[in-house]
Amino acid sequence: MRLKIAILAGDGIGPEVTNEAVNILRAVAEFGGHDFTFVPLLLGGVAITATGSPLPTATLDACLESDAVLLGAVGDKKFDALSPDKRPEAGLLQIRHALGGYANLRPSIAYPALSANSPLRPEVTEGADILFVRELLGGLYFGSPREWNKSTGEAWNTMRYTRAEVARVARVAFELASNRRRKVTSVDKANVLEVSQLWRATVTEVARDFPSVTLEHQLVDSMAMHLMNIPRNFDVVLTENLFGDILSDEASIITGSLGMLPSATIGGAVNLYEPVHGSAPDIAGTGKANPLGAILTAAMLLRHSANLEEDAAAIEAAVRTVLADGHRTADIARGSASLNGAAQHLVSTTEMGKLVHQALAQSIDQRQSMHAV
Ligand code: NAD
Repeated sequence: MRLKIAILAGDGIGPEVTNEAVNILRAVAEFGGHDFTFVPLLLGGVAITATGSPLPTATLDACLESDAVLLGAVGDKKFDALSPDKRPEAGLLQIRHALGGYANLRPSIAYPALSANSPLRPEVTEGADILFVRELLGGLYFGSPREWNKSTGEAWNTMRYTRAEVARVARVAFELASNRRRKVTSVDKANVLEVSQLWRATVTEVARDFPSVTLEHQLVDSMAMHLMNIPRNFDVVLTENLFGDILSDEASIITGSLGMLPSATIGGAVNLYEPVHGSAPDIAGTGKANPLGAILTAAMLLRHSANLEEDAAAIEAAVRTVLADGHRTADIARGSASLNGAAQHLVSTTEMGKLVHQALAQSIDQRQSMHAV
């Protein structure tokens, strides 16, 4: 398998965690005999310093010529005085827009070893493994008309969707659910909003093409409660843009640390993979950053851009192993050791990367010897 991956490490802890994710991808390439090329490119504050632009044309062109884009994080206090369209974060919004992905995937997983990190009780989170599929290019964030009329003291936004926009993201959700636990929960507010009635009717229509997948509809307000009460009841959760923004952040509580969360944005010209966290300037350069969100993001890249499901699952299993063995970066080193079942060892960003690498090597070795038998 040949894969050209654009690497936008960015600012703050971006380069630290991305480095660990790239090491894991290199290991997968080596073990599997794949040919992965990594193309380092500038985005965010580092790009402003070098070129004056948060998204240089050379970066954009190279991303569009890649098979996948792996991003770290952007944001640097140094540029806070610049207008919003010139700051590092503008580069992030521009690259997301230019790549054009319409389906944002965010897993929310309860890791047994981290159960004490979630404010929810372990018996509530146990077994939770949710994949959010959030529509990313439509809805209230993009609909027009939109305006704040300061002279009349009125402001308005428009939640607007077309049937085609709903159908394409619904299809992504059903396809993903087909390879998981075969359930899609579609979230809307169809008891009040016409746009949600269109959403519900369209999702129901798409569901007919996926008879093996169960579809349920939930109203967004009750969904907010169910996610905290019975998270293990959900498999793939399909939402429009605003509802997904809110609910996927709420559900991150299940995992317990921002540093653990991966994401992927698919469906556009080139898929974009990025951990959920930002550049964390408060811990940049201290070796405290948790690289697991970035490493799990690399697993998503292998799954969704290279169809290397076994390798993606092996990375995820290696992360579970390392956590179960008690290794913790500072952000997840809370809770009592007895609750977590293993003594905790505080490790740095690079140590955590190496531990995942070792666990991955062992599991791939085992897999290869099983194939050989
Ligand atoms: P943040 O995600 O950078 O940090 C929030 C808190 O979580 C901090 O205490 C930080 O130390 C901690 N944290 C984040 N990631 C961690 C990790 N991997 N390991 C351990 N701890 C981690 O959010 P913020 O502080 O609101 O923003 C900082 C900068 O990042 C700002 O410039 C913001 O605009 C930018 N930002 C970028 C992105 C992105 O690139 N996708 C996302 C959010 C914020």
